[in-house]
Amino acid sequence: METTIVKAFGTGAVDKPLEAMDIKRRELQPKDIEFEVLYCGICHSDLHQIKNDFGGTMWPIVPGHEIVGRVTRVGSEVTKFKAGDLAAVGCIVDSCGQCQHCKESLEMFCVEGVTFSFNSPDTYMEGDHTYGGFSKTYVCEDKYVLKMPAFEALASAAPLLCAGITVYSPLRHWEAGPGKKVGILGIGGLGHLAIKIAKAMGAEVTVFTTSPEKVSDAKRLGADHAVLSKDEEQMKNAKGSQDIIIDTVSAKHDVNQYLGMLKVDGSLVLVGLPPEALEVAAFSVVGGRKSFSGSNIGGIAETQEMLDFCFEHNIVAHAEIIKIQDVNEAFVRLEKGDVKYRFVVDMSSL
Ligand code: NAP
Ligand code: ZN
Repeated sequence: METTIVKAFGTGAVDKPLEAMDIKRRELQPKDIEFEVLYCGICHSDLHQIKNDFGGTMWPIVPGHEIVGRVTRVGSEVTKFKAGDLAAVGCIVDSCGQCQHCKESLEMFCVEGVTFSFNSPDTYMEGDHTYGGFSKTYVCEDKYVLKMPAFEALASAAPLLCAGITVYSPLRHWEAGPGKKVGILGIGGLGHLAIKIAKAMGAEVTVFTTSPEKVSDAKRLGADHAVLSKDEEQMKNAKGSQDIIIDTVSAKHDVNQYLGMLKVDGSLVLVGLPPEALEVAAFSVVGGRKSFSGSNIGGIAETQEMLDFCFEHNIVAHAEIIKIQDVNEAFVRLEKGDVKYRFVVDMSSL
């Protein structure tokens, strides 16, 4: 397959900083879109992958899966986009299209295995793998490219492509809305968007945070209540109060404590990806017929629905916009929890 050399930013080994490098993008196929990357968010999953937290990272790795750009070229069969349009790609760039889940636009559960926008075996270029949004351009089949609404703060909207859909999808599935109490565990990239989205859906939102300084921030972000999880008295008062808890914590933590915050029949939905196994005690779930469950991003149709919902409700991330040259420092700060609340790379700096 013909390829084009494109400038990118990535790393060749687990212990090496990210640096400028060249990657190959496939030449435009009839159904493909090429776009110039304008902005790319930094998700904790990028950090997990460059640290090889889950094993299986493929080198060299070019992270970035909250990708917003402007279309430069379209293939001969593309009707959905034209040059000059805004476009966006999140986590999913290919799937079999034939299985039950793909047919329902739950591509993330494709039985053949979904292709992610970075660090997945490349279905077009055999033996190669996908490279993410820390690059000048991105090439993707049109059906996986989202129509990006014209957000005024376009850079701050980039995190919707992963953080946004990852919390929107379970909030919809577990029916957050008026009369429902929704707990958000961890205020990072995912958590702060979960507050805004759950509020826009009409739910009563309580935040559980380990960070004292985020208690007042949570209210400013729209939360109705904030609980400092290190404060025993506050935790005791919140027991049995929530219908749904969205758990966005990126590291090992005691989920039993938070299962205790659920009402009878409540669900704790794990979206965070701590590399170590979490332990659930029988008595944390049997007493109140509680569910410990999980959710993984969201399909293409739902991602478009989420973008349109966020545009309508004026929801974007609180973003710190950085240059690509500062990305290594940003990963160090993300690891320390020192980001309020999402880094977004202005890709014109590459
Ligand atoms: P983030 O910005 O780093 O936020 C994570 C938050 O978790 C922190 O801000 C902190 O909130 C809390 N936290 C961190 N370490 C903790 C600990 N040891 N104990 C208790 N709380 C802790 O990360 P993110 O980008 O939002 O991503 C969160 C997780 O979701 C990551 O594991 C990421 O890989 C995963 N993820 C999953 C999906 C999916 O589809 N399932 C998609 C995207 C991301 P407080 O300061 O408020 O306590
Ligand atoms: Zn992500």
